[in-house]
Amino acid sequence: MHLKSKFVGSLLGTHVGDALGAPFEGQDLVSMQSKYGTIREMREGFRSKGCYTDDTEMMIAVAESLIENKGVDVDHMAKQFMKKYHPSRGYRWGTRLAISLMKQGVPWQKVGDYIYDGGSFGNGAAMRIAPAGLFYYDDLEALRRAAYLSSSVTHSHPLGKEGAAIQACAVAFAVLLNPEDILDKDSFILKLWEFASVETTLYRKLLYRVYSFLHQKPSPEEVVALLGNNSTAMGSVPTAIYSFLAHSESFEEALIYAVNLGGDCDTIGAMTGAIAGAYHGKEGIPHRWLNDLENGLLGRTYIEELARSLFRIKLETKKEG
Ligand SMILES: [Mg+2]
Repeated sequence: MHLKSKFVGSLLGTHVGDALGAPFEGQDLVSMQSKYGTIREMREGFRSKGCYTDDTEMMIAVAESLIENKGVDVDHMAKQFMKKYHPSRGYRWGTRLAISLMKQGVPWQKVGDYIYDGGSFGNGAAMRIAPAGLFYYDDLEALRRAAYLSSSVTHSHPLGKEGAAIQACAVAFAVLLNPEDILDKDSFILKLWEFASVETTLYRKLLYRVYSFLHQKPSPEEVVALLGNNSTAMGSVPTAIYSFLAHSESFEEALIYAVNLGGDCDTIGAMTGAIAGAYHGKEGIPHRWLNDLENGLLGRTYIEELARSLFRIKLETKKEG
């Protein structure tokens, strides 16, 4: 499969997962199941069908900044977050406050501690990190640096930054794999475990739990109880990785599984979509979902163009290097 298709698949995968989960954000899986059955189609919610939320809006900002600077420039990225910001996309209050402080002139380096002592460990950095996972897929040290830097604008707690790095790393591993080969799931998780920082041991414990679950096939309720479906990075990044690995044969099934766990299901959907899209490429995304996506000025077509530009810049910087 062409690498370009994997770049496109990952960014569109973020949009698809975000839009599929958005109408159900915050609902628990039992009441979702009884109200709607298994969710397999995009629906209208508070927003129109196929609309994305803050997850994709911030992912667009990360992609644009990486493309313009041929790599990470945090000052530029912080400006890009402000420029792209539309409160109606459903930002959580921490990020809203961070953006509002930056707009008032507070430097991004100071914003995190103004809001939470020690910075936020929400999943807001991991949900938008796909472009960095793609751009640095062949250099894990640079990938970690990029993930930490781009997180530090709004999520400066070590667990928030590490969550973004692990999510980016999962995207990078997915880029490198051929979906036509049999996926060695144990080795995928083992390599992520090795990548995870020893300083934030929690992720290593959670990734080990993902490994065990791949062999035990737990119920969705157990996955929610023991991996989480909440808006912390540690309570959602491992869940997205599990959703992908447990359904690696199909983009569609991975996304349906992730979104039907409920909770922060637009973000878990977006992160699962970023990994599964990087693995299966654009061809793996069901047409009906692509057709449902919003396609205004900054919609589906624009996101696909961003992915193509990111790929082109990646090739150029590789040649220059
Ligand atoms: Mg969201």
